[in-house]
Amino acid sequence: MDTDITESWPPPLRLRRSLKAKYLRISISATNEVELVVPRGATKADALDFLNSKKPWVLKQLKKNADKVIVPPLPEHHWPFTLNFRALNMRYALQYKITSASHIRISMVDEYTLMISGPLLEPQAIFHALKKWVKKQGQWYLPIMLNELSVQIGLGFSGVSVRGQKSRWGSCSSKGAISLNYKSLFLPKALCEHVIIHELCHTVHLDHSSRFWGLLTEHDPKTQLHREQLKQGDQFVPGWL
Ligand SMILES: [Zn+2]
Repeated sequence: MDTDITESWPPPLRLRRSLKAKYLRISISATNEVELVVPRGATKADALDFLNSKKPWVLKQLKKNADKVIVPPLPEHHWPFTLNFRALNMRYALQYKITSASHIRISMVDEYTLMISGPLLEPQAIFHALKKWVKKQGQWYLPIMLNELSVQIGLGFSGVSVRGQKSRWGSCSSKGAISLNYKSLFLPKALCEHVIIHELCHTVHLDHSSRFWGLLTEHDPKTQLHREQLKQGDQFVPGWL
Protein backbone atom coordinates (compact mmCIF):
# COMPACT_ATOMS: atom_id res chain seq x y z
CA MET A 1 0.00 0.00 0.00
CA ASP A 2 1.13 3.53 -0.68
CA THR A 3 2.02 5.77 2.19
CA ASP A 4 -0.49 8.51 2.66
CA ILE A 5 1.29 11.55 1.32
CA THR A 6 -0.78 13.82 3.53
CA GLU A 7 0.52 12.20 6.72
CA SER A 8 4.25 11.80 6.19
CA TRP A 9 6.71 14.60 6.74
CA PRO A 10 8.62 15.70 4.85
CA PRO A 11 6.56 14.57 1.85
CA PRO A 12 8.32 12.93 -1.12
CA LEU A 13 9.75 15.85 -3.05
CA ARG A 14 12.07 16.93 -5.78
CA LEU A 15 14.74 19.59 -5.41
CA ARG A 16 15.25 21.74 -8.47
CA ARG A 17 18.16 24.13 -8.66
CA SER A 18 17.38 27.25 -10.59
CA LEU A 19 19.75 29.97 -11.74
CA LYS A 20 16.86 32.33 -12.43
CA ALA A 21 14.96 31.93 -9.16
CA LYS A 22 15.56 34.65 -6.61
CA TYR A 23 13.86 33.00 -3.64
CA LEU A 24 13.14 29.54 -2.30
CA ARG A 25 9.79 28.38 -3.60
CA ILE A 26 7.52 25.36 -3.13
CA SER A 27 5.21 24.17 -5.84
CA ILE A 28 2.65 21.40 -5.50
CA SER A 29 1.05 19.92 -8.60
CA ALA A 30 -2.57 18.78 -8.86
CA THR A 31 -1.35 15.20 -8.46
CA ASN A 32 0.59 16.13 -5.31
CA GLU A 33 4.11 16.20 -6.69
CA VAL A 34 6.07 18.54 -4.46
CA GLU A 35 8.92 20.54 -5.91
CA LEU A 36 11.32 22.77 -4.03
CA VAL A 37 12.92 25.41 -6.20
CA VAL A 38 16.35 26.35 -4.87
CA PRO A 39 18.02 29.57 -6.09
CA ARG A 40 21.72 30.05 -6.51
CA GLY A 41 23.51 30.36 -3.18
CA ALA A 42 20.93 28.47 -1.12
CA THR A 43 21.84 25.05 0.30
CA LYS A 44 19.76 21.92 0.64
CA ALA A 45 19.55 22.60 4.39
CA ASP A 46 18.18 26.10 3.69
CA ALA A 47 15.59 24.55 1.41
CA LEU A 48 14.47 22.04 4.04
CA ASP A 49 14.29 24.75 6.71
CA PHE A 50 12.10 26.74 4.36
CA LEU A 51 9.89 23.72 3.73
CA ASN A 52 9.51 23.13 7.47
CA SER A 53 8.51 26.73 8.00
CA LYS A 54 5.71 26.23 5.46
CA LYS A 55 4.57 22.88 6.90
CA PRO A 56 0.95 23.87 7.76
CA TRP A 57 0.41 25.36 4.30
CA VAL A 58 2.01 22.39 2.50
CA LEU A 59 -0.05 19.83 4.45
CA LYS A 60 -3.24 21.77 3.84
CA GLN A 61 -2.48 21.89 0.12
CA LEU A 62 -1.66 18.18 -0.08
CA LYS A 63 -4.83 17.27 1.78
CA LYS A 64 -6.92 19.45 -0.49
CA ASN A 65 -5.49 17.79 -3.60
CA ALA A 66 -5.76 14.27 -2.16
CA ASP A 67 -9.49 14.76 -1.69
CA LYS A 68 -9.79 15.69 -5.33
CA VAL A 69 -7.50 13.03 -6.80
CA ILE A 70 -9.34 10.80 -9.20
CA VAL A 71 -8.00 7.28 -9.26
CA PRO A 72 -6.91 6.81 -12.86
CA PRO A 73 -8.70 3.99 -14.63
CA LEU A 74 -6.83 0.81 -15.34
CA PRO A 75 -4.44 1.22 -18.27
CA GLU A 76 -6.26 -0.03 -21.32
CA HIS A 77 -3.68 -2.64 -22.26
CA HIS A 78 -4.74 -4.66 -19.21
CA TRP A 79 -8.26 -5.03 -20.52
CA PRO A 80 -9.27 -7.76 -22.89
CA PHE A 81 -11.15 -6.32 -25.85
CA THR A 82 -12.42 -9.47 -27.45
CA LEU A 83 -13.62 -12.86 -26.37
CA ASN A 84 -13.24 -15.33 -29.18
CA PHE A 85 -15.24 -18.50 -28.62
CA ARG A 86 -13.80 -20.28 -31.65
CA ALA A 87 -15.59 -23.52 -30.78
CA LEU A 88 -18.91 -21.74 -31.25
CA ASN A 89 -17.86 -19.35 -34.04
CA MET A 90 -18.82 -16.55 -31.68
CA ARG A 91 -16.80 -13.45 -31.07
CA TYR A 92 -17.65 -10.71 -28.60
CA ALA A 93 -16.29 -7.19 -28.45
CA LEU A 94 -15.91 -6.00 -24.87
CA GLN A 95 -16.81 -2.49 -23.75
CA TYR A 96 -16.07 -1.00 -20.34
CA LYS A 97 -17.79 1.57 -18.22
CA ILE A 98 -16.71 2.75 -14.79
CA THR A 99 -19.70 3.28 -12.52
CA SER A 100 -20.24 3.70 -8.80
CA ALA A 101 -21.97 0.31 -8.52
CA SER A 102 -20.61 -1.95 -5.80
CA HIS A 103 -20.08 -4.95 -8.10
CA ILE A 104 -18.83 -5.59 -11.61
CA ARG A 105 -21.64 -6.48 -13.95
CA ILE A 106 -21.43 -8.07 -17.39
CA SER A 107 -24.34 -7.57 -19.73
CA MET A 108 -25.01 -8.05 -23.42
CA VAL A 109 -25.33 -4.86 -25.46
CA ASP A 110 -26.21 -6.88 -28.53
CA GLU A 111 -25.32 -10.33 -29.80
CA TYR A 112 -21.74 -9.27 -30.52
CA THR A 113 -21.01 -6.88 -27.68
CA LEU A 114 -20.56 -7.24 -23.95
CA MET A 115 -20.57 -4.36 -21.50
CA ILE A 116 -18.46 -4.69 -18.38
CA SER A 117 -19.48 -2.05 -15.87
CA GLY A 118 -18.88 -1.25 -12.23
CA PRO A 119 -15.87 -0.34 -10.11
CA LEU A 120 -13.24 -1.28 -12.71
CA LEU A 121 -10.15 -0.45 -10.68
CA GLU A 122 -8.55 -3.84 -10.09
CA PRO A 123 -7.55 -5.98 -13.10
CA GLN A 124 -8.04 -9.06 -10.94
CA ALA A 125 -11.65 -8.12 -10.22
CA ILE A 126 -12.35 -7.67 -13.93
CA PHE A 127 -10.73 -11.01 -14.76
CA HIS A 128 -12.65 -12.70 -11.97
CA ALA A 129 -15.96 -11.40 -13.31
CA LEU A 130 -15.09 -12.36 -16.89
CA LYS A 131 -13.99 -15.81 -15.80
CA LYS A 132 -17.31 -16.38 -14.06
CA TRP A 133 -19.16 -15.24 -17.16
CA VAL A 134 -17.10 -17.43 -19.51
CA LYS A 135 -17.62 -20.43 -17.24
CA LYS A 136 -21.38 -19.88 -17.36
CA GLN A 137 -21.24 -19.81 -21.17
CA GLY A 138 -19.31 -23.08 -21.10
CA GLN A 139 -21.86 -24.63 -18.78
CA TRP A 140 -24.56 -23.67 -21.25
CA TYR A 141 -22.96 -24.42 -24.63
CA LEU A 142 -20.62 -27.37 -24.04
CA PRO A 143 -23.39 -29.79 -22.92
CA ILE A 144 -25.30 -28.81 -26.08
CA MET A 145 -22.27 -29.68 -28.22
CA LEU A 146 -21.80 -32.90 -26.27
CA ASN A 147 -25.42 -33.91 -26.83
CA GLU A 148 -25.24 -33.21 -30.54
CA LEU A 149 -22.00 -35.16 -31.02
CA SER A 150 -23.29 -37.99 -28.86
CA VAL A 151 -26.31 -38.40 -31.14
CA GLN A 152 -24.18 -37.95 -34.24
CA ILE A 153 -21.70 -40.72 -33.45
CA GLY A 154 -24.11 -42.89 -31.48
CA LEU A 155 -22.23 -42.96 -28.16
CA GLY A 156 -24.15 -42.10 -24.99
CA PHE A 157 -22.99 -40.78 -21.63
CA SER A 158 -24.51 -40.75 -18.17
CA GLY A 159 -23.94 -37.16 -17.09
CA VAL A 160 -22.01 -34.00 -17.81
CA SER A 161 -20.29 -31.31 -15.78
CA VAL A 162 -18.36 -28.27 -16.96
CA ARG A 163 -15.52 -27.01 -14.80
CA GLY A 164 -12.26 -25.09 -14.90
CA GLN A 165 -9.73 -27.92 -14.68
CA LYS A 166 -6.14 -26.74 -14.52
CA SER A 167 -4.48 -29.17 -16.89
CA ARG A 168 -7.03 -31.16 -18.85
CA TRP A 169 -9.66 -30.46 -21.45
CA GLY A 170 -11.96 -33.19 -20.34
CA SER A 171 -12.36 -36.50 -18.54
CA CYS A 172 -14.71 -39.44 -18.34
CA SER A 173 -15.58 -41.51 -15.27
CA SER A 174 -16.03 -45.28 -15.18
CA LYS A 175 -19.78 -44.63 -14.97
CA GLY A 176 -19.71 -42.65 -18.23
CA ALA A 177 -19.99 -39.18 -16.68
CA ILE A 178 -18.15 -36.66 -18.82
CA SER A 179 -16.48 -33.56 -17.46
CA LEU A 180 -15.47 -30.77 -19.84
CA ASN A 181 -13.28 -27.73 -19.36
CA TYR A 182 -15.03 -24.44 -20.14
CA LYS A 183 -11.74 -23.12 -21.57
CA SER A 184 -12.29 -25.43 -24.55
CA LEU A 185 -14.74 -22.77 -25.81
CA PHE A 186 -11.63 -20.93 -27.01
CA LEU A 187 -10.32 -23.88 -29.04
CA PRO A 188 -10.98 -24.02 -32.77
CA LYS A 189 -14.24 -25.87 -33.35
CA ALA A 190 -12.61 -29.03 -34.73
CA LEU A 191 -10.35 -29.29 -31.68
CA CYS A 192 -13.18 -28.77 -29.21
CA GLU A 193 -15.18 -31.47 -31.03
CA HIS A 194 -12.14 -33.72 -30.92
CA VAL A 195 -11.96 -33.31 -27.12
CA ILE A 196 -15.64 -34.18 -26.77
CA ILE A 197 -15.44 -37.19 -29.10
CA HIS A 198 -12.36 -38.36 -27.18
CA GLU A 199 -14.38 -38.39 -23.95
CA LEU A 200 -17.37 -40.05 -25.61
CA CYS A 201 -15.09 -42.86 -26.82
CA HIS A 202 -14.00 -43.39 -23.20
CA THR A 203 -17.55 -44.48 -22.42
CA VAL A 204 -16.65 -47.58 -24.48
CA HIS A 205 -12.93 -47.96 -23.66
CA LEU A 206 -11.85 -46.41 -20.37
CA ASP A 207 -8.17 -46.44 -21.30
CA HIS A 208 -5.82 -45.30 -24.04
CA SER A 209 -5.49 -48.75 -25.63
CA SER A 210 -5.16 -49.29 -29.35
CA ARG A 211 -8.85 -50.20 -29.41
CA PHE A 212 -9.61 -46.77 -27.94
CA TRP A 213 -7.51 -44.94 -30.56
CA GLY A 214 -9.10 -47.07 -33.25
CA LEU A 215 -12.60 -46.05 -32.15
CA LEU A 216 -11.61 -42.39 -31.83
CA THR A 217 -10.07 -42.36 -35.32
CA GLU A 218 -13.27 -43.90 -36.65
CA HIS A 219 -15.29 -40.96 -35.32
CA ASP A 220 -12.63 -38.31 -35.91
CA PRO A 221 -10.48 -39.30 -38.90
CA LYS A 222 -8.15 -36.35 -38.19
CA THR A 223 -7.32 -37.64 -34.71
CA GLN A 224 -3.54 -37.64 -35.28
CA LEU A 225 -3.51 -34.04 -36.45
CA HIS A 226 -5.90 -32.89 -33.73
CA ARG A 227 -3.88 -34.56 -30.97
CA GLU A 228 -0.81 -32.77 -32.26
CA GLN A 229 -2.61 -29.40 -32.41
CA LEU A 230 -4.12 -29.88 -28.97
CA LYS A 231 -0.64 -29.93 -27.46
CA GLN A 232 -0.53 -26.24 -28.28
CA GLY A 233 -4.16 -25.71 -27.34
CA ASP A 234 -3.29 -23.33 -24.50
CA GLN A 235 -2.29 -20.66 -27.01
CA PHE A 236 -5.98 -20.12 -27.81
CA VAL A 237 -6.95 -19.53 -24.17
CA PRO A 238 -6.60 -15.97 -22.83
CA GLY A 239 -3.80 -15.62 -20.30
CA TRP A 240 -6.12 -14.22 -17.62
CA LEU A 241 -8.16 -17.43 -17.46
ZN1 LIG B 1 -8.41 -39.93 -22.65
